[in-house]
This record gives sequence, structure tokens and C-alpha cells, in this order.
Amino acid sequence: MTRVLDDLLRKTLPEPRLDLIRRVADEASALKMPIYIVGGFVRDLVLGRDGLDFDLVVEGNAIALAHSLASKYGGKVTAHEKFGTAKIDIREWMLESSKANEDYSLVSIDLISSRSETYKHPAALPTVKMGSIEDDIRRRDFTINTLAVRLDGPHFGELRDDLGGLDDLEKKIIRVLHERSFNDDPTRMYRAVRYEQRYGFKIADETLALIPEARALVDKLSAQRIRHELDLILEEPHVASLLARLAELDLLKPIHAALSFDDAARQRLDKANFSPDYSVQHLTPANLRWLLWLINLSEKQIESVNKRLHFTSILYNALAASSNLLFSLSSFVDLKPSQCVTQLDEFPPFSIYAVSLAAPTGKSKENLEKYLTEWRHIKPKTTGHDLKKLGIEPGPKYQEILWTLRAAWLDGKVANGQEEESLLKSIL
Ligand code: ATP
Repeated sequence: MTRVLDDLLRKTLPEPRLDLIRRVADEASALKMPIYIVGGFVRDLVLGRDGLDFDLVVEGNAIALAHSLASKYGGKVTAHEKFGTAKIDIREWMLESSKANEDYSLVSIDLISSRSETYKHPAALPTVKMGSIEDDIRRRDFTINTLAVRLDGPHFGELRDDLGGLDDLEKKIIRVLHERSFNDDPTRMYRAVRYEQRYGFKIADETLALIPEARALVDKLSAQRIRHELDLILEEPHVASLLARLAELDLLKPIHAALSFDDAARQRLDKANFSPDYSVQHLTPANLRWLLWLINLSEKQIESVNKRLHFTSILYNALAASSNLLFSLSSFVDLKPSQCVTQLDEFPPFSIYAVSLAAPTGKSKENLEKYLTEWRHIKPKTTGHDLKKLGIEPGPKYQEILWTLRAAWLDGKVANGQEEESLLKSIL
């Protein structure tokens, strides 16, 4: 019997999104194109987990549907003929909608023509051909991601479960669709572990048994593909158990020999849950977790891992800086505040934050914390502008004078504007 999720859909989706879906579905209906939400959204809907992002798959020409919608409601269409996909800018729609102003987070929707995917060789990018909804379901990674809900006309809410996804969701099992799945796309091994740990599911034994053969193919994945998977992993709440599981399944070393996960790394990552109550530039959860995971690698190892993963330059510099700083931490014990600041001003603040979390309790850790909360913000009252007014010729001298004043504040040698002024006079 067909299960119908129309009530669940209505209860779960906010009205503006339902309104949007109705418009798209009505247009698809008029063009006689069945349209479905497929994948993660349906999985999470059945699991009762909140999720708002959906992938709309059309059995037919998604680009034609997009143009038809745009001529009715407006909005720019960006089409990719080769993949049969279209993105429509829907900002105008939301403004016109009677349910407007409730949901501005959605600015565009993606329409995808159902397709089949084949792989010319292991770990290759897929060759895409237009196909039926059955084909589209069969190109997916795991049974739990094959559920589809139909949206057009009287079919609204009908659940399509071709490959036993519902059963596996109930049994809490991650299962690939066929034996070549990991060979076709080795990133799926990482996705399997991500879902397993996120939902507390189990990877099916037959699926686990496919890992040893596919492990060697990880090497063939581009930097961008494997790093994307690791980025997604580092955004998950259970990041430590996830990395531990990847290490247990021997899926870290095939990416790069320097990647591992042990108790010390787990303890560091556990601290990533505390966020500071002061602002630190570039401190995203994923960035911080990258630093805490890899902080004890040497600079050389980080350089080598970067060759494999192509970090952004911000992250790469921060990784190298954190590793350096952690290594030289003991030298911060006996320094005056101004001496600490001279050195720490050279490091990105989010590296310093990561090291302050990773450092053992003690004077060095305290100094890093003081730098982040107080010292980095301490500046003299005098500015370059004031020096100019005093008739000092602009040049490198300015830096020297201002630094002397800042150092005096940092080391407690001046405590108010008057003392700063006298110090300035004595310098001049
Ligand atoms: P998440 O909650 O992590 O965002 P999601 O299921 O929405 O999960 P996406 O990465 O957005 O994940 O992918 C959308 C859908 O595309 C998946 O549900 C899955 O069906 C399919 N998919 C994604 N990556 C792959 C892959 N490597 N191989 C096969 N199918 C994939």
C-alpha cells in the first residue's frame, strides 16, 4: 500500500515553503511532469528530524519547467543544459506571495531532471544521462537516501520506496545499493560513517565488507572531493566519534599517512564545543576543529597534508601557525605581557584560540587567554595623527613611539592618559 506523507509534509514545512512547493508542483502538473522531493529531506522527515532543504527532482525537462515558472512568477533562471538542472531566483516570488516576509532564508530553488549516472572507471566523476525517476533513485548512495515523495496533483505526499529505504530506516541500517558502490565513488565510505554516527545507525555487514577493496581507491579522489567530505564531517556534532570510527575502519591513512585519531585528539576536539564570548575572526566550528585535530602535526606534515587536501590559504596558514605556537608554548611562561604581544601579534587569533584550548593548564595558557581577551585590544591613546600635530616628521619612528607607549600600558608602566603623556614627552 502506498504510504502518504501529506499530513506530515504540511505539519513539518513552514507555510511559505509549502506555498512554494505548491506553485512548482502545479506548474509541473500542467506540463505533465511528475515531480518529487528525493533524498535527505525525506529521510529526515520520516525520522522526525527538522530539515528544510529539499532537492526537487522532475521526471522530464527541469529547465523547461524552470522557464515556465519564471514566465509566470518572474525570477532569473540559471540553467545547466549538460546536467539538465536549473536554478531559479525566487526572491520576487516571496515578495508577491501572500505568505511573504516569513521566510527570507530561501532565495532560490534547484530543479533537477531525473538522471542516471554511470562511472567510466573507479572513483571517476559520473557520466550523466537523462533518465526516469527509477534511474535517479538508483544513482544514490544508500537505501535511506532513496526515499522520494511525489508532489504533483493528486499524488501530493505519496511516498515512493523502491529499494527498501523505509525498512532500513526502521532497522537503523546504512546500506549501499550495489556491490560496486564504494568503487564507483569512494567518498561514499566517508558519507556512510557520517550518517552512521549522526543517527546512531549501523553500517550493514555486507556494506562494511566492501570497504577493503575500495580503500585503495581513495587515493584517486581529487583534493576537492575528499576535502569536501572531511569538511562535512568536521561540521557534525559527533565529530570525535566520527573520526575515531574512520580511524577504526582505516579510512584516514588512505587520505594521507599523517592523518590519525587518538585519545589526545579526542580530548582536544571535545573542547571545540566551548565557544568564546569574545569575537575571533575566521573562528568557524569547522575551522576550529581542523586546528584542534591536526595541531600536533609538524609544520612539514601540515605542508604535506595541504598538498593532498588543498586547504584554503586562511586555514592552511592557521594550521601552520597553531602547530608552531603549540611547539614553542613553553617559551611564553616567563615573558612580560609586551613581549608576549610582540610574538602573538604575528599569529592569526583563531590559531591562538585553538592553542589556548589545546594547551595544558599553566602560565603559558593563561598568557594566551589574556592576549585574546585583553592584551590584543590594548592601544595607547596617542595616535599617529597626534604625533603629526606635535610636529614629528612621519616615518618609521611613529611605529616605534606608538609601540613604546603600547608596551608601557601592557606592562602596567602607565595607567592613565596623563602618565602616557609624560612618557611621550620623555621619549620625545
Ligand atoms: P545532509 O543531511 O548531510 O545534508 P543529504 O542527504 O541532504 O544529507 P546531500 O549531500 O545534500 O545530503 O545530498 C543530497 C542527496 O544526493 C543525498 O540524499 C543522496 O541521495 C544523494 N547523494 C549525495 N552524494 C552522493 C554520492 N556521493 N553518491 C550518491 N548519491 C549521493
